[in-house]
Amino acid sequence: MTDIAVPQIGHLIGGEVFASDLREVHDPGRLDDVVARVAVGTADDVDRAVHAAHAAYPAWRDTPAPERVRRLFAAADALAAAGEELGPLLVREGGGVLGEAQTDFALGTGVLQYTAGLVEEFLRPVQFDDEQSFISVEKVPRGVVAAIVPWNMPIVLAMLKVAPALATGNTVVLKPSPFAPAALTLALQKMAAELPAGVLNVVHGEGDVGAALCAHPLVRKVGFTGGGVTAQKVIEATAPTIKNVTLELGGNDPAVILDDADVDAVLDRMLTGVFTRSGQICFAVKRIYVPRGMYRRFADELCGRVDEYAVGHGLDPRAGFGPLNNEAQFKKVLDLLDKTRNSSAQVVQLGRKLDASSWENGYYLLPHVVRDVEHSAPVSCEEQFGPVVPLIAYDDEEQAVRWANDSDYGLCASVWTTDPERGLAVARRIEAGSTFVNTHSFASLDLRMPFGGVKQSGIGREFGAAALPEYVEDHAIRHLK
Ligand code: NAD
Repeated sequence: MTDIAVPQIGHLIGGEVFASDLREVHDPGRLDDVVARVAVGTADDVDRAVHAAHAAYPAWRDTPAPERVRRLFAAADALAAAGEELGPLLVREGGGVLGEAQTDFALGTGVLQYTAGLVEEFLRPVQFDDEQSFISVEKVPRGVVAAIVPWNMPIVLAMLKVAPALATGNTVVLKPSPFAPAALTLALQKMAAELPAGVLNVVHGEGDVGAALCAHPLVRKVGFTGGGVTAQKVIEATAPTIKNVTLELGGNDPAVILDDADVDAVLDRMLTGVFTRSGQICFAVKRIYVPRGMYRRFADELCGRVDEYAVGHGLDPRAGFGPLNNEAQFKKVLDLLDKTRNSSAQVVQLGRKLDASSWENGYYLLPHVVRDVEHSAPVSCEEQFGPVVPLIAYDDEEQAVRWANDSDYGLCASVWTTDPERGLAVARRIEAGSTFVNTHSFASLDLRMPFGGVKQSGIGREFGAAALPEYVEDHAIRHLK
């Protein structure tokens, strides 16, 4: 792999790409491989990028919506074309398998097109005209938007902010994660070439750069996806200048199997919801509640299916999933497994290693099912964000719903049953932003469903029509006759 050219990834500010200091990004599946050299950002870079976005804002805001839409469709074409080249790079910096990287690009492109397609109708003013007054309620953009994204699905998570922000007339400064900055930035450069200079900017860096972006007085809105502890810092940094925030945070999604469920049918659909991206998806199934009478059969069949996974480098076409993304995440999951092994629960390691001799050179982990675990155990209460799933036996539906809701999180959930009415009734009792019946997936990202969390899973909603209001203010104008 060392003979592959190593791209240099600069900041993108006001249409110019540049970098002074660079740092290396390594492949989490081949730690010796340098995948890219990426600009190291500073608060000064943030300030320049925000000023570039601020300077570009009035003209972009005043561009007629159909023209903005036309430009965004061109940017979506550029993103789709970039995805054809950049999938392998995304695999090598992020650790997923190639199909997941391609899906990330395809979903990102779809988000951009779908959102752009809604915006003209959305921006139409609501007007009232009577003998006394003429009132026009108009939606105006907020100004400069900071978009801050994590590493697990960087393309689509970036587009979920960039698309509604740009479509409604805001300009953007985006900060990628240091753990997957390269493919996203190269794609954004291609998209930016379809837009006026300064409309879409990128600044690289760690938490200090994110914090400077959140605190900058010219930034009027932060769209953030990441962990809860970081989100607290985002809230603190934005508080002095009273910014609007959308926060898409972690989850500990429960799957509740009802006692009439068909075990084979459940497993056919559920597994991708558990192990895609090695479980590093905010809305992966992270705990499964199974009726006690069905528990042993369910657990045995689940283990049988999970044992079919082959794990290896994401560019190996045999790999069902790849390594974890970074050392901290890897250690966190290993620690959780160690803690669980020292309890009464049974930790079952499954699947097989591809190229086992190279495993020491990456953050590889086989899939694990944790059997006979208590609802209150750390492995079921904490967001594992890895290929580990606990199975908890429950005695009655009341208990299952109570346990599903007994969490600081509330991102997504699923209910599994052969009775659609019962499924709907139980789904309505779950505390989550989205609850699925007989799936744990948005099925190619169905953007008609708003996406976001309750409780500590976040503030606000993304996806399609739900995202657009997050990026505008209502301006109410009244003319008294
Ligand atoms: P993270 O919170 O560590 O980092 C997210 C982003 O915030 C990165 O770009 C990071 O550099 C930046 N950042 C770090 N410190 C900052 C600060 N003080 N101010 C501003 N920005 C700062 O999260 P991660 O490890 O990259 O991603 C994993 C987490 O993201 C998990 O908890 C996962 O559940 C969550 N996630 C949520 C969703 C969702 O849509 N709800 C989707 C994917 C991931």
